[in-house]
Amino acid sequence: MFNFSSLLRPNIKNLTPYSSARDEFKGEASVFLDANENSLGSPLTKWYNRYPDPMQWKVKEKLAEIKGVPASQIFIGNGSDECIDVLIRAVAEPGIDNILICPPTYGMYQVSADINNVAVKKIPLTPAFQLDLPAIENGIDENTKIIFICSPNNPTGNSLIKEDVEVLLNNYFGLVVIDEAYINFSRFRSFTQELKDYPNLVVMQTLSKAWGLAALRVGMAFSSEEIITVMNKIKPPYNINQASQDLVLNALEEVGQVNDMIRELVTQRGILIAKLEALSVVSHVFPSDANFLLVRVSAAQPIYNFLLGRGIVVRDRSKVELCEGCLRITIGTEQENDELVKALQEYS
Ligand SMILES: *Cc1c(COP(=O)(O)O)cnc(C)c1O
Repeated sequence: MFNFSSLLRPNIKNLTPYSSARDEFKGEASVFLDANENSLGSPLTKWYNRYPDPMQWKVKEKLAEIKGVPASQIFIGNGSDECIDVLIRAVAEPGIDNILICPPTYGMYQVSADINNVAVKKIPLTPAFQLDLPAIENGIDENTKIIFICSPNNPTGNSLIKEDVEVLLNNYFGLVVIDEAYINFSRFRSFTQELKDYPNLVVMQTLSKAWGLAALRVGMAFSSEEIITVMNKIKPPYNINQASQDLVLNALEEVGQVNDMIRELVTQRGILIAKLEALSVVSHVFPSDANFLLVRVSAAQPIYNFLLGRGIVVRDRSKVELCEGCLRITIGTEQENDELVKALQEYS
């Protein structure tokens, strides 16, 4: 059985979190002399002199509406990267516990584990870029606290088979973290609607991709209230600054505009796939549910450098296992994609 309390590190279970001035007084008042802010104001709009809401309730209430998940089940991090770090620190005892990842995948799970001195078990995806369930089952031991999976996966672009993910959720009693950074570009539905069924499920999303807000550093984790409460205890009190909270609140009013951009990028993705497949230097374009393509080319490094010479930067993934000879290419504007295709035509 899944029991989050028994999964927690003892120091986290016993942690008394930092109590800020805003935590200790939440009522209405006209004179705030409790937080050592500058009472005179700031060089900016007056209210940036005040500490921001440590729990980001306004943002969470808006996200709750959009995502169909109660605000109490949402954690907001300084990018998804902070969510990854907080989850590892919650349950994985340095030098003792481990996490499991399925490469090729996003690099931050490994980096965050390394920083925390938490071992990483690597069970590669199958050649079809799907979960190798028997190998994962073999790989798990009693100290495996988290399985990180990424769907749609970076850098391969494909979605993982839902039934495979469900096998993990049903049979593994650590945390199953599904990174859905690219979910808005996918044909498949988010796992956020299945939180009720799986107490060990954490879904991560971000405003950095489809929402176009990478600079604001806002990522989300959706999970049970119990897990979210612990994540909130661990995070730095003011991890999302007021400028980000303000700008995100404005942006979240523009769902329609974001959906238009998603549609346009998905259209451009289809056009770019067709154009790349017609090129002699391209041997394979992998199917993508994301805003990028993994493309196998005749000579990855020389082509990468050739493109650089034209001022076009792509990502060289040719040294990554299962991605040999591949470049990862973000879907650009129509003009940018045309420029890329033209440059590749001229490579010989
Ligand atoms: C880009 C990306 C993220 C986003 O990270 P942020 O810190 O929210 O910008 C998370 N996971 C994956 C797999 C990504 O590719």
